[in-house]
Amino acid sequence: MLSLLFWICGAAYLRHEWHMQKKLQLAGQTHAQEVAWQAVTTAHRTAMQAYFDSYIMQPAVLSILQTARTDDRSRQDIERVRLYRKLSPVYEQFRQRDVRQLHFHTPDNRSFLRFHSPHNSGDSLVASRPSVVEANRTRKPIFGFETGRVIIGFRNVFPIIWQGQHLGSVELSQPFEAVRKGLHDLDPAKDYLLLLKGEVLLPKLFDEHKKHYAPSPFSQKWLVEDPRRELSDSSPPLAPVSQELCKLLKNNQEFLSVLAAEKPDSVSVRHAGHTYQISLIPLHDTDGVTSAVMLTFVRAPELESLFGSHRANLLIFTIMTLFGGTALYLFLSSLQTVLEQEQRLALITSNIADGVYVIDGNGKITFANLRASELLGFAEDELLGTIAHDLFHRHGGGNHTPLEECPIYRVIQTRGRYEGEEQFAHKDGSLLTVQVASQPMLKSGRVVGSVTVFRDITEQKQLEEQLRLLSITDPLTGVYNRRFLQETLLKELYRAERHGEPFSLVMLDIDHFKQINDRYGHDAGDQVLQSLVALIQKRVRSSDCLARWGGEEFVLLLPHTGLSAATALAEGLLEDLRTSTVKGVGCVTASFGVAVSKPGDTVEQLVQRADVLMYAAKQAGRACVKSGNS
Ligand code: GH3
Ligand code: MG
Ligand code: MG
Repeated sequence: MLSLLFWICGAAYLRHEWHMQKKLQLAGQTHAQEVAWQAVTTAHRTAMQAYFDSYIMQPAVLSILQTARTDDRSRQDIERVRLYRKLSPVYEQFRQRDVRQLHFHTPDNRSFLRFHSPHNSGDSLVASRPSVVEANRTRKPIFGFETGRVIIGFRNVFPIIWQGQHLGSVELSQPFEAVRKGLHDLDPAKDYLLLLKGEVLLPKLFDEHKKHYAPSPFSQKWLVEDPRRELSDSSPPLAPVSQELCKLLKNNQEFLSVLAAEKPDSVSVRHAGHTYQISLIPLHDTDGVTSAVMLTFVRAPELESLFGSHRANLLIFTIMTLFGGTALYLFLSSLQTVLEQEQRLALITSNIADGVYVIDGNGKITFANLRASELLGFAEDELLGTIAHDLFHRHGGGNHTPLEECPIYRVIQTRGRYEGEEQFAHKDGSLLTVQVASQPMLKSGRVVGSVTVFRDITEQKQLEEQLRLLSITDPLTGVYNRRFLQETLLKELYRAERHGEPFSLVMLDIDHFKQINDRYGHDAGDQVLQSLVALIQKRVRSSDCLARWGGEEFVLLLPHTGLSAATALAEGLLEDLRTSTVKGVGCVTASFGVAVSKPGDTVEQLVQRADVLMYAAKQAGRACVKSGNS
């Protein structure tokens, strides 16, 4: 639709351009035709002036005219005959040179002698021949086109002044054919047709001459001269192609309006695959009235090439528009597809519990679903266009990890999939543990970004941690349980082995605990256990590991601690017990066995040694410390 509108505008512009160029071309041709007309008529006028000077203004002729200036009719007739005889040979010569009329007039504007019609004389020319009246009045030559009673042509009326006496005037006229020949010599390719205005011509014509005029093919108003070629100096018939053009012009509104305007102008017509130009030059009588028009027919190859280039331009423009339109359509439809895909993605992902976001090749977020916004606390517009890695992705260690090392971003480079647990920061600063799955996004085989689905597993992780703690903790005292201690002991044995640095193990057992239970109750016994733990924890380091081995038996793992330091600690603990009491129970003691790790120890061997030492303490009367490394 948009393309069509564009094409219509472009085609209209091209058409306008073509019309402008055509108009210019036609105007140029009209002007050239006017100039040609002027040139030929001026040449003819100069020739007529020369004829007049050479053949008329001779004493023999002038004396006849002088004698004829009398009221005596018979004298006039005699002089007319004399003049006729005198100039007949000249008239014949003139006729050879396309002079159609040699006509003498009296000073009072009457016909004196028409060489083409010697018997028609004495009639007044006032009404029909303004040029004669004007020449006699102003006594200056009058030149120009003029219709008349007998001839339509180029009148050259010369006043005859001799010895200061006005003897009348003479006219040397040429038919249109004479000028046509001149124009034809200038450009033989052109064809000419004279149209005469009936309303000007017909009232002037002698009746016997009216038969030489017929309506033109264009309208009754305009006449053509001598269509049957009866006169000796008729123009040749129009070329067949010009006759065909006349038939076309009959119905050509543009031409008919140009003809009606009677102004110099041209129109173009296409016929049989060619373009023709028809120019119109109005011809005015000597009194200024438009009495005829001259039509020029000529083939116009310039207009044809203009038309050809217009067509070529239109074709090129149409092809370009088609190409452009197709490209635009493809672009818009691919845009539409992308939009649809995004809408679909948004629709699908808006209803899932996981966060989804898409990054481009630069790591910038191009799409994020509602859940992603909710989980991260950022609004959609805060996410879009931002580099995800910088905005919310946190890597362990606290230092900023370069984008290139981010496993989520790296799927773009590796084209592989990534799944793992990551830390994302909520807008409020809190950290989320998320399970992510990232996958590269391909477009025409090229990686353009990645899509990441993430799930908040923070609570699950916390739960898991709680469960893990539960599984390694003694519920009554909150210290590690036996299983955990065994695992830790194993690790610590490896470590000690690797670094060659021993550690110590203290095993302690409350003395006569059964009696406490029996005497004060089980709850009081529990209380004793808790008090003991509190007391031990006050003295040990955070790196030390205290575990309940079972019942009222505890094990204390002391990393980086030799036997003497461990023994001292045990002694200290025994002293603490001696100097403190448990509420409702009183003083409670314990027996201690302190062993140190040896290369090649197993967990059982080490524990066994501590246990043996602790048993030795019991044997030694309880409330004492036994240590050793064998
Ligand atoms: P000895 O000085 O030789 O160590 O004598 P003892 O009484 O402390 O040792 P014995 O092994 O005979 O008794 C241990 C008692 O500890 C038996 C048991 O009922 C009690 N006991 C074990 N676990 C708990 C507990 O979680 N809470 C309470 N209150 N008593 C416990
Ligand atoms: Mg005991
Ligand atoms: Mg015991």
